[in-house]
Amino acid sequence: MSRLKQLIRGALLLEFVSAFILAMRFFFRPKVTLNYPFEKGPLSPRFRGEHALRRYASGEERCIACKLCEAICPAQAIVIEAEPRPDGSRRTTRYDIDMVKCIYCGLCQEACPVDAIVEGPNYEFATETREELYYDKEKLLANGDRWETEIAKNLEMDAPYR
Ligand code: SF4
Ligand code: SF4
Repeated sequence: MSRLKQLIRGALLLEFVSAFILAMRFFFRPKVTLNYPFEKGPLSPRFRGEHALRRYASGEERCIACKLCEAICPAQAIVIEAEPRPDGSRRTTRYDIDMVKCIYCGLCQEACPVDAIVEGPNYEFATETREELYYDKEKLLANGDRWETEIAKNLEMDAPYR
């Protein structure tokens, strides 16, 4: 009986020592975890986050109301209405995205001929109500104004691979 106890103790000791060595090996390695939200990891220029409608440097909206994004959206999350302006140019009067329906596939961005609708780098847009995720044109343009620098840089970095 005492021989059996000795064997069990030996096995436990061996297990403890090997676990200790394993713990020490990882203890001195660089951390792979981040203290989010105070620390954030790098994002790919192709990251597909919150949508934004962009403007030209003049302040004019890029969107020409071609409705390609609306047509291609597999979730039917985009609703656009448009009419010509007095100067003959065509612009949207309504541009809504139901972010609850959106599956972040990026097809709207791919389809847009003028880089107007994009999925920007923002991923921190959780809300408390469903209604807050029904984005309208005003909200999307505001997103574009807020993230334009990052969006333009990401599009430029990705351009050689397109
Ligand atoms: S990312 Fe995909 S699902 Fe979302 S609005 Fe664009 S096309 Fe529709
Ligand atoms: S965002 Fe782009 S694809 Fe969609 S209607 Fe405007 S110009 Fe066309």
